[in-house]
Amino acid sequence: MPDLAEPAAHDPALAPSILLVEDEPGIVDFLKRGLQAEGFVVEAALDGAEGERRALRESFDMVVLDLMLPGIGGMEVLAKLRDVKPELPVIVLTARGEIEDRVAGLDAGAVDYLVKPFSLAELLARVRAQLRVAAQTSTTTLQSADIEVNLLTRKVRRAGNSVALSTTEFELLVYLMSHRGQVLSREQILSAVWGYQHDPATNVVDVYVGYLRRKLGRPDSPAPIFTVRRVGYRLGDGS
Ligand code: CA
Repeated sequence: MPDLAEPAAHDPALAPSILLVEDEPGIVDFLKRGLQAEGFVVEAALDGAEGERRALRESFDMVVLDLMLPGIGGMEVLAKLRDVKPELPVIVLTARGEIEDRVAGLDAGAVDYLVKPFSLAELLARVRAQLRVAAQTSTTTLQSADIEVNLLTRKVRRAGNSVALSTTEFELLVYLMSHRGQVLSREQILSAVWGYQHDPATNVVDVYVGYLRRKLGRPDSPAPIFTVRRVGYRLGDGS
C-alpha cells in the first residue's frame, strides 16, 4: 500500500507565486517565511542576474525586488522587467533617502515600493493590493469602435490587426479610450499621461496624438481621434 502524501496546507498550483530578489540571507529568510505563512509560494533569487533571468523565464504573479544587489543592480532589473513584462507587478524595496525619489518618479502607479525598514504587515498589505489590481486588470479590455486594448498584455488591435505602440503612446490611448466621446483638453491629457510636472507649454500631446493617428490609421479609415479646435482632442466613433 503506497504511503499517503501529507495533505498540503494549500494548493501550490493555485497560490500566488512571488519571486523575491534580495541578497541578504536574513531578510530573505524572514520575508520568505512570512509570505509562506500567508499562503504564498515564494522563490528567492540572491542576485540581480538570477532574479532577472527567473522573472523573465518563469511565470511568477509578482516580484519583490531589492534595489541594492550585487552585480546587476535592482534599477537595471526593474527597467528590464518593465520593458519585457510590463504586466508583472513589482514591489521595490529601497533604503530610505537613497533612491526613493528615482523610484517614485519612474512610472507612477506601475511600480510600488517600500522603504526599509518595513514591517511584514506592510509588505503583505502591498502584496495583496498589487495582486488585486493585477486580477482586476486581467479581465479588463477597453473597446471603442474597432479599437481594442488589453490592459494586461498591453496588446492593441484595430479591426483585428495588432498595432505596436510605445509605452507613452499606449498610456495616451488608454486615457483617450477611458474617456471616449469626451473632449479632453491638452492640459488634462498632459497631467494624466505625463504628470503635472511637465512643462505646459510643450507640444508633446500634439506630437504623440500624431504618432497614435499614424499607427492606428489605415488608408481607408483614419484613426478616430478628433481635434477639437482650441480645446484638445476627443476619441470617438464618429466625427
Ligand atoms: Ca540588498
